[in-house]
Amino acid sequence: QGPRAMMFRRQHMDSKSRPNPNSTYCNQMMRRRRMTVGMCKPVNIFVHEPLKDVEDICIEPNILCKNGQNNCHKSKFLMNVTACRLTNGSRYPKCKYHTSPTMRQITVACLGDPYVPVHLDT
Ligand code: ATP
Repeated sequence: QGPRAMMFRRQHMDSKSRPNPNSTYCNQMMRRRRMTVGMCKPVNIFVHEPLKDVEDICIEPNILCKNGQNNCHKSKFLMNVTACRLTNGSRYPKCKYHTSPTMRQITVACLGDPYVPVHLDT
């Protein structure tokens, strides 16, 4: 698979865990998935569902993405996700994150053949 699909999985897929709120999950995962290199990425969402279920979102009807392209697709179902948000006062290289697990529908941008998620538009 292409580099953009791989980058999507690195940044946004974590099928195997279900973190507790206010845990150190985001501090560890943001570092482990290399989003604290050079700067602290301010916001990032991890999806705790099987990869197949996330890839299947690309079959939902096309909708407009935030960038004006129309290769976005919204999940039919609520998904378990965790939002990681940089804490106020966190300064690189000490990237400290809030860990906020929620259920929500997510929107992905899909590209390529196979047509797979390359960007989270939520
Ligand atoms: P992601 O890592 O999931 O792309 P992000 O959390 O880094 O998202 P942004 O910084 O908003 O959030 O993402 C911008 C990136 O997403 C850019 O590389 C841009 O090319 C890509 N992108 C945005 N919209 C689309 C789209 N409709 N189709 C493909 N890629 C897109």
